[in-house]
Amino acid sequence: MKIESMALGPVATNTYLVTSPDGKTCVVIDAPKGAAAALLPIIQQRGLKLTHLLITHGHWDHTCDAYHFAQAGASVIAHRDDEVLIEQIEKFRARYQSFLPMLTDDDFRAVKVTQWVDTGDSVDAAGYHFEVRHVPGHCPGSILLYVAEAKIAFTGDAIFEGSVGRTDLPNGNWPQLLKSIREQIYTLPDDTVLLPGHGGSTSVGQEKQTNPYARP
Ligand SMILES: [Zn+2]
Ligand SMILES: [Zn+2]
Repeated sequence: MKIESMALGPVATNTYLVTSPDGKTCVVIDAPKGAAAALLPIIQQRGLKLTHLLITHGHWDHTCDAYHFAQAGASVIAHRDDEVLIEQIEKFRARYQSFLPMLTDDDFRAVKVTQWVDTGDSVDAAGYHFEVRHVPGHCPGSILLYVAEAKIAFTGDAIFEGSVGRTDLPNGNWPQLLKSIREQIYTLPDDTVLLPGHGGSTSVGQEKQTNPYARP
């Protein structure tokens, strides 16, 4: 699976560019500040068609540039429990700007979600079958995107290498996050590579053995 990643924006949020095996289409997973400026020229230079933006959850650091990818023709995919966060992002501008003063009003442009997805749904894009699992706890609308044939899961901020997503943000819920990790992430095959919203990759087996916050 051809996956390229960059950590962008004020809190180093990962964005992933997945290109189809035939080299014709691509999808972007999460849209931190700077992702559109970094990726859209690459996509254009390579003659790729960007079909989808997959949003793992509605926190600002993952959705800031969603508007620009939608403008470039991408269908926007997310979970409905984050509808307000994504489609009415301007409501949260003051709060984010209070602790990230480098953010401008232009960083809070609402985007219309094309398709809401939940556990059991899937998205066929870039030549792959992305299976959706709802993993709330860090954020109500958190999802992971599992590509079984490639043994890869894009997990957003549910779990990190040796850590888990914070649950002290509005609508965070620690028991719910632990349940999501145990029932939706630790039930994936141990050799599944996890590509999180921040930091480096890990695997299901590694986290089951060593994660100090989420024991199996
Ligand atoms: Zn988050
Ligand atoms: Zn994040």
